[in-house]
Amino acid sequence: MFVSDCISVNEKGHLTVGGCDTVEISKEFGTPAYVYDENEIRKNIREFRNSIDENYGGRGMVHYASKAFSCKEIYRICASEGIGVDVVSGGELYTALSVDFSAEKIAFHGNNKNYAELEYAVESNVGRIIVDNITELETLNAIAAKHGKTVGIMFRIKPGIDAHTHDFVKTGQIDSKFGFALETGEAMEAVKTALGMSNIKLCGLHCHIGSQIFDIDPFELAAKVMLELFADVKSQTGVELEELNLGGGFGIRYLESDNPKPFGAYMKTVSKTVHEYCEKLGLAVPFIHIEPGRSIVGAAGITLYTVGAVKEIPDIRTYVSIDGGMADNPRYALYKSDYQAVCANKANEERTEIVTIAGKCCESGDLIQENTKIQKVQPGDILAVLSTGAYNYSMASNYNRIPKPPVVMIKDGEARIVVRRETYEDVAVCDI
Ligand SMILES: *Cc1c(COP(=O)(O)O)cnc(C)c1O
Repeated sequence: MFVSDCISVNEKGHLTVGGCDTVEISKEFGTPAYVYDENEIRKNIREFRNSIDENYGGRGMVHYASKAFSCKEIYRICASEGIGVDVVSGGELYTALSVDFSAEKIAFHGNNKNYAELEYAVESNVGRIIVDNITELETLNAIAAKHGKTVGIMFRIKPGIDAHTHDFVKTGQIDSKFGFALETGEAMEAVKTALGMSNIKLCGLHCHIGSQIFDIDPFELAAKVMLELFADVKSQTGVELEELNLGGGFGIRYLESDNPKPFGAYMKTVSKTVHEYCEKLGLAVPFIHIEPGRSIVGAAGITLYTVGAVKEIPDIRTYVSIDGGMADNPRYALYKSDYQAVCANKANEERTEIVTIAGKCCESGDLIQENTKIQKVQPGDILAVLSTGAYNYSMASNYNRIPKPPVVMIKDGEARIVVRRETYEDVAVCDI
């Protein structure tokens, strides 16, 4: 009935998350609010971590891709689970380091890291920098030399696989701003350049083929393409690279009709391909990194809103306005993303109405969902939007100077604030 395991309905007919009554949560913390089930996050982390143990004999590492949901508490949770994290900006790096996240377990991504960010990463002894282009490689080598350090890097490779949600193609020439192209020889050229640099240690190669992918085949194909490159590097340079990073992108359930494979199934199938291909190509199985983001936090989070005006436009549609919108969840405006919505205080009632959920921003495109089925609602009802744990809080803005909602974390039935609600003063704090 619900798209996420941590969601249920209690004896009052109220929606629960992590066993807590969402109507009570909305009373205690106000709306809008993001609410996460910490046990669900930890369960997902453990599923990936265990699959590295099972499929690679522990010779691998899970990095949570923290751009999906970045705040101090999530880095603390990852630290306590013993996994690494990916960061994509100085701001994410700062947040991770501010809670003493182990720098050696941080990988730094991005297609255009600036000088200050690269220097910050070098000074902080970040474990791996995923280098995107030659300009960055040269800058990084110079920064490392200036600091008298050798920096461990991986190259981001475009494996030429375009993985969409439901189908994928292997393209001859991939059009992407990220990484080095394979087919032009750019990737091999970069490998040779890096191997000749005094302050760079090339540890391995990285790819990330997309997001919200339901098929396993594109992941297998990416692994094959990458291992072929490992074999080419070995034959052309004599160097056998030690680490392969296969990225993230595992799909989750947003709608009841979505049918993602269990994370363990991806891991098992891809691992089989990796082992077979290494054998075939005469390579030792490299140390494997994976980078799940959405799949760790997405279905563990929901957003609670209060319903305001309900506008029935005869023969056109019914708009249900909520006290949030594109400022806290821009994904429908950006990609027409699907979500399941439920009236939290009427969760056991049948969903009989087809409505459009609109936000409060001065923008017609400020919608959370169009033509979605929910219970009959009236002003004052609590509306929950499910599976908003990834790329919602992290993509939130202050458009219309709307303060960002708080993040409430639930653990074993207890709710606590991990990011407090912004105030009007917060919104104006940088203004001179
Ligand atoms: C965004 C991103 C991820 C995580 O993707 P999900 O779809 O959230 O799993 C992993 N690696 C890189 C390099 C990314 O940019």
